[in-house]
Amino acid sequence: MILQSLLMQSRRLGPKDPSVKRLTGIFVVLVCLSLLVVEGWLTWRARTIQLAQSEVATANLAQAVGQHAYDTIKAADTVLVGLVERIESDTPSDIDYERTHQLLVQRVAELPQLHGIFVYGADGSWLVNSQPVLLKNQNNADREYFKFHQAHPDLGPHIGVPVRSKSTGEWILPVSRRINAPDGAFAGVVLTTIRMDYFIEFYRRFDIGKSGAILLALDNGTMLVRRPFTQKAFGRDISKLPLFRDHLPKAPVATVTFTSGQDGITRVNSYRRLKQYPLVVSAALSKDEILAKWRADAYLNGATVGLLVIAFGLSGFRLIKQIGLRIQAEAELVKARDSLEALNQTLERLAMQDGLTGLANRRQFDTSLSSEFSRAMRDASSLALIMIDVDCFKQYNDIYGHAAGDECLRAIGKVVSDSKHRPGDLAARYGGEEMAVLLPGADVDGAMRVAENIRAAIAALKLEHTGNSTGLVTVSAGVEAFAPARLRSEPIDLVIAADKALYQAKHSGRNKVCISPLNDTSTPEIVLA
Ligand code: GH3
Ligand code: MG
Ligand code: MG
Repeated sequence: MILQSLLMQSRRLGPKDPSVKRLTGIFVVLVCLSLLVVEGWLTWRARTIQLAQSEVATANLAQAVGQHAYDTIKAADTVLVGLVERIESDTPSDIDYERTHQLLVQRVAELPQLHGIFVYGADGSWLVNSQPVLLKNQNNADREYFKFHQAHPDLGPHIGVPVRSKSTGEWILPVSRRINAPDGAFAGVVLTTIRMDYFIEFYRRFDIGKSGAILLALDNGTMLVRRPFTQKAFGRDISKLPLFRDHLPKAPVATVTFTSGQDGITRVNSYRRLKQYPLVVSAALSKDEILAKWRADAYLNGATVGLLVIAFGLSGFRLIKQIGLRIQAEAELVKARDSLEALNQTLERLAMQDGLTGLANRRQFDTSLSSEFSRAMRDASSLALIMIDVDCFKQYNDIYGHAAGDECLRAIGKVVSDSKHRPGDLAARYGGEEMAVLLPGADVDGAMRVAENIRAAIAALKLEHTGNSTGLVTVSAGVEAFAPARLRSEPIDLVIAADKALYQAKHSGRNKVCISPLNDTSTPEIVLA
């Protein structure tokens, strides 16, 4: 539609308006640019939305992982709280170890995350645990959690670093509490161990792509477990990595994008520090994977829009070329029309002109006589006619040749032509060596003056003519002038009257100007030579 209107506009503005080509070019460029800008903007917007959605997804994942960690440890810790309460309320000798053993076995069976429950004395010796048979002479005083409670009077739970179970060889996370003697002295440790597999199995359920990551760590930067899983992760110090060094000090819960210090992959990370336990969880999705689908779409859309732009650009280019060709064709057409008009005018002029002298020809003379006669009739104005005939011209041809005769006629024609002073005056070749001058608005006196001037000017040319009595080329002229309205005459009457006057001039000796007998009240001829 727009292209059509551009074509129509180019037709309306015409070939001389190059702005149509420029406008079309600007239009094509603008449309191409708009397509590219809109596609770029949409692509960028899709990317922003994709990243925002992935931030929500990682935040939800971190929330779920955090909740799982809390529930797991809370359940284990609740067992410890009950156990501490039970042990502290009895004196060590009163404790029914057999019943306690049954209780611990039951608890471990109830809670799938639990690997075992242990009670150690103040020296680290094994008092009771959830294992089927209580091994004697075992001591855990060397364990980190034991030393921690020995040194710290704090009665809260303590989460240790993953260790390999002495009893089963499994990787376990120790969660422990201190037992106090009635006087507040250190009386031992209750410990529950959580199977690391429990976390691993849970983390495995999430679809986090090939390069996603889930992390559970102590808030001092000690890693507990991480997906992708590796045993090296257990207890590793990651306090110098960006999450602990840069982001956790700023906010306890946030979603940030950074490049991992462990594997160099850029991820959208959502982390949260748990309020109830000194734990930090983090869920992260690889930015590359998040944007993979978007990237594929962007390439496809980009290619489609690129093809569209190329197709539109090419069509636009062809259109501009066609407009250019059309403008050129129209320009050539106008040029051809102009030259045809000029040719027509020339032809018209030639059709009205006498070829030899350049004066108006007989046809134009007749037309002008008729129209000027009508006008003089309407305006009741005067119209004068001078008829001129070269004297003894037949002899001139005989003496000097026809070509010289032509040349002579040309020179006389020039003098006659120069005699015109008013715009309406007409000098014509009447026929042969006869010429006529039509003078609208002129009276007899005026016409006589003009005729005499012509006669004198031709004589003054001093063209040799030995066949003439004067020895030079001369002309005779007859003049008539009247107001047609007054006489109710016809155009031919004017010619006849002037011709009569010319005849008179010839008969009275030539080289003379005679007035028509109609106008001549005193003298039949005026001899001015
Ligand atoms: P007069 O003084 O009585 O007019 O004598 P004249 O010889 O001029 O007589 P006439 O008018 O009968 O002769 C006209 C001659 O003019 C005849 C012809 O040869 C010559 N003539 C007419 N048209 C042309 C022309 O175009 N070129 C040339 N060279 N001669 C022409
Ligand atoms: Mg003649
Ligand atoms: Mg003559």
